[in-house]
Amino acid sequence: MKHAFTPAPQASVAIAGSDERFPVHRIYCIGRNYADHAKEMGMPVERGTPLFFCKPADAVVEDGATIPYPSATNDLHHEVEMVVALHSGGTNIAEGDALAHVFGYGVGIDLTRRDLQAALKAKGSPWDIAKAFDRSAPVSAIHRSSEIGHPAHAQLSLNVNGTQRQRSDIGEMLFNVAQIIHELSKLFELKAGDLIFTGTPAGVAALKPGDAWHAKLEGIAVLRGQIG
Ligand code: MN
Repeated sequence: MKHAFTPAPQASVAIAGSDERFPVHRIYCIGRNYADHAKEMGMPVERGTPLFFCKPADAVVEDGATIPYPSATNDLHHEVEMVVALHSGGTNIAEGDALAHVFGYGVGIDLTRRDLQAALKAKGSPWDIAKAFDRSAPVSAIHRSSEIGHPAHAQLSLNVNGTQRQRSDIGEMLFNVAQIIHELSKLFELKAGDLIFTGTPAGVAALKPGDAWHAKLEGIAVLRGQIG
């Protein structure tokens, strides 16, 4: 294979307790997966069809990183989410087979240009510029399911500058991990290296320059970082 120029480096995230890296193929995200967050956004709680969107693989940000405040927004929001990492995939994956495709779990932040998203929603426009911008996906090291299993319950929380902003339990998700993988695999061919951000609970709010976050999936993963 001869490329016309040097390809961009493979995006990857750390694997806990390992010097191996998890190479990122795609980043899928689900919206409105906690009833309390759907309500705070003034949206109905829908259990029929999940709302999906994507971020580019190279939007991942390493644990402990300092990132610049993004361009084109005055209302950057945090959304703390459990992140699911896949080591295999396919299409039309049955719910009962879904967890066998999971490599492991982490915690991440779906950074959102909320002001742009509100304007896009009002026009019925795609969300890309609100969700899929550079460095919009801080994510912790991935913890292997071979070591931690498949948690059905765990406290998910986010502190900013030491003050708690968001707290819930992943058991509150409207679509659980198996259902999300099943639904996504009807729309996309899932592959090894895919990351899935599984939605955020209530308490989303603004991040300002200098703010530091501490996200936690209790007993599983932690993520720190800050806005420069
Ligand atoms: Mn989100």
